[in-house]
Amino acid sequence: MAATPAPLERFLGLWAEVSDLGTAAQALSWDQETQMPPKGHGARAEVLSSLAGLRHAKLSSAELHDAVEACAELADPDGVLAAQLREARRVLARVQRVPEELARAKAKAVSVGHEAWKAARQERDFSLFAHQLGHLVQLSREEAQAIAGPGGKPYDALLDLYEPGSREETLVPLFQELQSSLSAWVQAVRESGVRIDEGPLQGSFPVATQLEFARSMATRIGFDFEAGRLDRAAHPFCSGFAPTDVRLTWRATEEDLRPCLFGILHEAGHGLYEQGLPPEWARSPIGGAVSLGVHESQSRLWENLVGRSRAFWEWALPGLQQHFPSLRGTSLEEFWPPLHTVKPSLIRVEADQGTYDLHVIVRFDLERALFAGDLDVQDLPEAWDQAYERALGLRADHVGDGVLQDIHWSMAGFGYFPTYTLGNLIAAQLFAQVERDLGELAPSFRRGDFAPLLEWLRDRIHRHGSRFPASELVERATGRPLGPEDYLALRARDVEEVYGVTL
Ligand code: ZN
Repeated sequence: MAATPAPLERFLGLWAEVSDLGTAAQALSWDQETQMPPKGHGARAEVLSSLAGLRHAKLSSAELHDAVEACAELADPDGVLAAQLREARRVLARVQRVPEELARAKAKAVSVGHEAWKAARQERDFSLFAHQLGHLVQLSREEAQAIAGPGGKPYDALLDLYEPGSREETLVPLFQELQSSLSAWVQAVRESGVRIDEGPLQGSFPVATQLEFARSMATRIGFDFEAGRLDRAAHPFCSGFAPTDVRLTWRATEEDLRPCLFGILHEAGHGLYEQGLPPEWARSPIGGAVSLGVHESQSRLWENLVGRSRAFWEWALPGLQQHFPSLRGTSLEEFWPPLHTVKPSLIRVEADQGTYDLHVIVRFDLERALFAGDLDVQDLPEAWDQAYERALGLRADHVGDGVLQDIHWSMAGFGYFPTYTLGNLIAAQLFAQVERDLGELAPSFRRGDFAPLLEWLRDRIHRHGSRFPASELVERATGRPLGPEDYLALRARDVEEVYGVTL
């Protein structure tokens, strides 16, 4: 057996340390959201800041840079090492092109901005956040410009952080097509006058029983609790420290079954991806999930295309009724339609599948306008309200339910929102392809058998880590570039079945 060439060993060894510092920070953040007592915040912030500093120093070191370049001549252009170098260089470029002073100023602006956002949201007063938001936009624009380089497009550099390789010019027509179709569905549903009774999903459901049921569903779809945990938190999320250690969180309300059950299915979908990542590439540049859009495709696929399917509930409803005797008189015909309502609302995180992407597209359009210099921060609340009226026919009573509802911009998360909608599109395209490959999945769902679907996802998506760029991964998995067709076909099918409406 050939000895591992020394440069490669050095590169991967240094990268593993960078990765470990990131994982340590992740573990402390998980702890902060699930276990830490309220008074621990200050001390924890110091530790996280030191870890971020150490990671940054390692990433900007000449040692790592040299180690990467020393491997260049070893790499077969189509091989794994070439992919390792591509990913390493992408991450290093972001670090090296941003002056340290700017990186520091931005980190500070995020911390100040986030506190200002919380206060402004609480007081429902945009003016308490406007100045800081302006500062965040300005610093993010400078940073994006530095990364994009002369002639590069700053907004693309922002997108690239969350969805490497995606471009504003390809997302705009994709999202426009989506928006016009989804708006037409919303209007058709409104004109139909059909009202769906959401009663079966609402009532009084003890939280401990909800958790027990949802946990059993996560186990059934394949989440391995020997390699993961599920803990309560204010906001649901998934954090993968390693394929063998994946943390999920949940929340619940006693009055409605949906947040706990679908929240856990969603996070378990993220978790299945993390547990399926290639262990042989752990702690290396291509060992992680390839993009947030692909990550979100996994959560949405399990939450919506599996967990909200009629076949799933043909199997799962009797079990749910055992947990909640009050549902024993509820038929599938009563239970299933309220999982597919199309009802415009003001709050993105509470939006149904029929309107969710319209919320995302509003934010995408507004942040593009901010970064293009076509919209001033002080005019943002009014632009937000107008966009909501156009897209959803609603206007918020106050900025807390309007422009201040999301945390993202307060943390300079510009370019993040599109990944939610990309997740929906990718999920639908993968699902259409798996059914082309394996035949209709409903019969296996009716038996509570999800293994064929999970095996397919492991093979086409999970095991590749970041070996291929996201767009290439989707194309390899489905035989074509990402498009809106499969997603729109699914939306049409659901709306037709539930509301009896066609376009
Ligand atoms: Zn998610």
